[in-house]
Amino acid sequence: MAIQIPRGTQDILPGVVEKWQFIENKAKEICNKYQYREIRTPIFENTELFLRGVGDTTDIVQKEMYSFQDRGGRNITLRPEGTASVVRSFAENKMFGNPTQPVKLYYLGPMFRYERPQAGRYRQFVQFGVEALGSMDPAIDAEVISLAMELYKSLGLKKLRLVVNSLGDNESRNAHRAALINHFQPRIGEFCSDCQKRLEKNPLRILDCKKDRDHELMKSAPSILEYLNEDSKQYFEKVKQYLSAMDMDYIVDPTLVRGLDYYNHTAFEIMSEAEGFGAITTLCGGGRYNGLVQEMGGPDTPGIGFALSIERLLSALEAEGINIEAEHSVDCYIIALGEEAKDYSVTLLQKLRTAGFSSERDYLNRKMKAQFKAAERIAAKYAIILGDDELKMGNIAVKNLETGEQTELSLDHFIDEFSKLCR
Ligand code: ATP
Ligand code: MG
Repeated sequence: MAIQIPRGTQDILPGVVEKWQFIENKAKEICNKYQYREIRTPIFENTELFLRGVGDTTDIVQKEMYSFQDRGGRNITLRPEGTASVVRSFAENKMFGNPTQPVKLYYLGPMFRYERPQAGRYRQFVQFGVEALGSMDPAIDAEVISLAMELYKSLGLKKLRLVVNSLGDNESRNAHRAALINHFQPRIGEFCSDCQKRLEKNPLRILDCKKDRDHELMKSAPSILEYLNEDSKQYFEKVKQYLSAMDMDYIVDPTLVRGLDYYNHTAFEIMSEAEGFGAITTLCGGGRYNGLVQEMGGPDTPGIGFALSIERLLSALEAEGINIEAEHSVDCYIIALGEEAKDYSVTLLQKLRTAGFSSERDYLNRKMKAQFKAAERIAAKYAIILGDDELKMGNIAVKNLETGEQTELSLDHFIDEFSKLCR
């Protein structure tokens, strides 16, 4: 039997990969505008990193990690997300000492989670994310949110909803935590086994449970917003003020909590409101994590970031009927007839490519008609026609395949003349 692709993964083939490249380039362009620089960390890390960095009460750590022992007996995990690795690298490379502060980074690459595959949920997916480390200015929270929104908007998405919340500082979180325990404890038996474990460890995560989301105690749960102390309230007010100053509409949802254990203050999600997007509406999630750098062995450093997947971005584009033209352009195709012409095409092709033209030729010894067909199939702009007789006379014919116009150029000055023709 033929070997098949693993469940929850996909091949991205030529014709579609150009859409990915377009989106990836857009993301890089926007990061450059906002002055975030790329960081590349390993695809696998020591498992310990995610136990500490993502938190052992999360779905990711509890059930979704691809973990294994390597041949040296080390516990290794394919990265399920990017923040832990970026923060590890920040601490390990002592970026807190960089002359440029805050440290603004972005990453783009595959993540791995053992999930039940469905629309918008894969076992290997590509995340784009940013992290800003070292600033506790609410303007950077607004900047990070704006960067994510800009990517979606620049691709033409309109049906977006930005949801924000604040989880407050440690004092606020602890007060809220106590209130949550009080609220859920008497009836915790009615909740799933995960929630029962979460009650003492991290009751906030109960609010994020997918199994028990419709339980009546969820709606009546104490809202974090009532437990924000003065500092936390002020911080949240500033973030909202700056979002408005940047012309961004948002909704405050006090039930929005992010999966990770170390989140505090700002939390946000961007959802698609497009009809037909499906059950999973979250495109992007992010927030502030002021305790994480220290947890990774670095000095106490505030941080904020987001992550989004290209897969869900593509679903959102599809749901809004937006088509990214998968552009693949070829400048010219050499059509050679006769033995000498074929030999010369090797030289000419090399010259064309050196001069910067994307160029192709026939490698299947096809007849003239079939070579023209091949040129059209790859949408070449020009056909360069080499014949033994013309070569002897020092001429090369060039046909514009869009207009059908044909010109003779001189063999000796071909690259110069062809460059002029293309301009
Ligand atoms: P969800 O609630 O959908 O499981 P999450 O809270 O696990 O999301 P995060 O860990 O915050 O998601 O990841 C950020 C973003 O990465 C999500 O908003 C989503 O766009 C994307 N994402 C997460 N898991 C997957 C997956 N399995 N396949 C494709 N994209 C994903
Ligand atoms: Mg998930």
